[in-house]
Amino acid sequence: MIELEKVNKWYGSYHALVDISETIHKGEVVVVCGPSGSGKSTLIRTFNRLEPIQSGHIVVDGQDIHAPGLDVNAFRSRIGFVFQQFNLFPHLTVLQNCTMAPMQLRGLTRKEADERAMALLHRVGLSNKANAWPSELSGGQQQRVAIARALAMQPPLMLFDEPTSALDPEMVGEVLLVMRDLTRDGMTMVCVTHEMGFAREVADRVLFMDEGKVLERATPDDFFNRPQHPRAQQFLSDIR
Ligand code: ATP
Ligand code: MG
Repeated sequence: MIELEKVNKWYGSYHALVDISETIHKGEVVVVCGPSGSGKSTLIRTFNRLEPIQSGHIVVDGQDIHAPGLDVNAFRSRIGFVFQQFNLFPHLTVLQNCTMAPMQLRGLTRKEADERAMALLHRVGLSNKANAWPSELSGGQQQRVAIARALAMQPPLMLFDEPTSALDPEMVGEVLLVMRDLTRDGMTMVCVTHEMGFAREVADRVLFMDEGKVLERATPDDFFNRPQHPRAQQFLSDIR
């Protein structure tokens, strides 16, 4: 689903991604962790071309994402991306947030888009909030709408960048529950998260990054119980 070959990125003279080669398979759930500033967000933002790279190749869902002539907006609309901040459109209702892109970019009729959105809102436990404004929702509810909105485009791949880290602690669980539910469907997911419980339970693989490199790739069992790299051992002892 995602193939990275010798990917390098610099911000000016700062080498933010160092020679990263990695394959993420269809249906895999991969958690990316590592200290602040290690390059986790930069990495997953390269997957949908939010970050340009200076060398290397990235293929996502069969598409070389730097191919000349690629319609970037069309490509990006195929990948679900959920950020720390929920970024809902404040002037649209919950339902409208979930139907706008499918109608505008996929040509769904309003009825089709409404039906799809209502099914997804039901799934994230918010069908009763369809006509509410984003400002009327809690942070956890807004993030669940953001997930439903991304799913409404039926993406083959979902990317999450610390989706729970802006939430009050009591709302983290409800968002993780929705994400966990998605993994049961065989959705390909890459999640940057500090929720190590989530990683242990649902990840097929954990990638540990530090200083722009992937220093360790392991099953959750191996990563949490038998970390190999000294930096990974340090990271795990710091967060425990
Ligand atoms: P966090 O856990 O704090 O979110 P991260 O692992 O996601 O950290 P990145 O945001 O990917 O880290 O940043 C990696 C490095 O690149 C950091 O040292 C950061 O300062 C630097 N960086 C990120 N964005 C930019 C930018 N737009 N311009 C210059 N440097 C940047
Ligand atoms: Mg980050």
